Amino acid sequence: MKKIGVVLFTTDLRLHDNTTLNLAIKENDLVIPLFCWDEEQMNQLQFGFPRIGSIRRAFLNKVLIDLHKVLKDLGGYLLVRKGNNAEILAEITNEFSIHKVYTKKQVGIEEKRQNDNLKNILRKKGVDFEEYSTSTMYHPSDLPFSMSSIPEVFTKFRKVVEKEAIVRELVPTPTKIQCPAIPKEWMDFSFSENNTQIEKGFSLPELGGEQNAFQHLNWYLFEKQHILNYKETRNELSGLEFSSKLSPWLAFGCISPKYIYHEVKRFETECIANDSTYWLIFELLWRDFFRFSFKKHPIEYYQLHGILGKSDRKANRNTEIIEKWAEGKTENDFINAAMLELKATGWMSNRMRQLVASYFIYDLDQDWRVGAAYFESQLVDYDVSSNWGNWAYIAGVGNDPRAGRQFNLEKQEEQYDKEKRYQLLWLKN
Ligand code: FAD
Repeated sequence: MKKIGVVLFTTDLRLHDNTTLNLAIKENDLVIPLFCWDEEQMNQLQFGFPRIGSIRRAFLNKVLIDLHKVLKDLGGYLLVRKGNNAEILAEITNEFSIHKVYTKKQVGIEEKRQNDNLKNILRKKGVDFEEYSTSTMYHPSDLPFSMSSIPEVFTKFRKVVEKEAIVRELVPTPTKIQCPAIPKEWMDFSFSENNTQIEKGFSLPELGGEQNAFQHLNWYLFEKQHILNYKETRNELSGLEFSSKLSPWLAFGCISPKYIYHEVKRFETECIANDSTYWLIFELLWRDFFRFSFKKHPIEYYQLHGILGKSDRKANRNTEIIEKWAEGKTENDFINAAMLELKATGWMSNRMRQLVASYFIYDLDQDWRVGAAYFESQLVDYDVSSNWGNWAYIAGVGNDPRAGRQFNLEKQEEQYDKEKRYQLLWLKN
């Protein structure tokens, strides 16, 4: 009898450097690459906002279409089923004798619980269920600390990691895959290009799947060498080249942070190494840091008093104030411009994310978690630990040794939008 494995894709939608896919192909004769399109979970309200808004859905749709295409080129397919992981895997394990389900490790508390639940159900049926770390630049088992002793402050973490850990080589990209024939009625997801229109605004590149991510990285590094100015430009507010714009692809796992790391190293060897080339990797380390901190504090990041357990933050939730902020109708036009950009494109620069969060928390005096939930719904690059970690940081309940960041908006506007160019871009309608 042929050995069959299932790869349960979530936010690791790529062929390259993907341990789950690689191992599944190695250990089985046939593989079912699966993605579950779970409407109920996507529409679930969190502080009044759906978990996945229309922009991220459109992007996800595009990414799935592209993953299906590349898997087809290898001789297989991507099975996209409507429903939740448990229901769909139950159907699959009833139809086929499955040896093992391969999936990535999660950090979000609900996703972790879902995986634990799946593991229990499947193991009772005699199906193996294994989770693999595929999201970070440094592999968790290569860190010089255990998860429970990850430092709370980034600088401490960075200094030790940079000295004592190395980034692994990439896991090989599969060159072929064999998938079993599946019941026709399972192909109920339409891989059509409808519903994939994304408003690019003035900063986002063309978004799609893995190949699209490779092209953009190559453009940013080798074609245009924009990376050479990264450190000086990364705080700008608008434009294609001021920062890497890799976050949407990182969020859905279309590109691996290890791949970016090794490409930057190649650029440094073949072209130039400077402070900016180092700084891009430094920022990716922030991403790792938040992810590992989440593993250490899986519940606390969603709580009002965060990982510190105590603060003067309040749980104020005034619907009118929150709506005005989200709709870009506050008394501050600098903030409004950014909120309008976010609403139209799912995007906002790092600097403006900090400022609108500071305004929400300190000027409007609202519960920071509501702001984080709106970002979760709206951001095209939403990533659980980067989002909730950064919000907690600004609210002074996260990994900030200075206990909170209230920004002086007048000063910030003077420094970053003196001529009001950014505001004019978004307020003109
Ligand atoms: P670059 O400046 O080119 O950086 C390269 C990569 O490094 C980014 O793609 C990202 O993966 C990582 N990175 C950079 N800055 C940070 C940071 N402060 N924290 C963690 N990782 C970082 N980033 C997300 O990817 N998803 C989110 O949901 C998210 N929510 C945020 C919410 C708030 C309130 C704030 C202040 C920041 C948030 N960030 C989030 C971090 C940061 O704003 C974005 O990663 C960055 O703007 C993405 O643009 P880029 O890819 O051009 O970044």
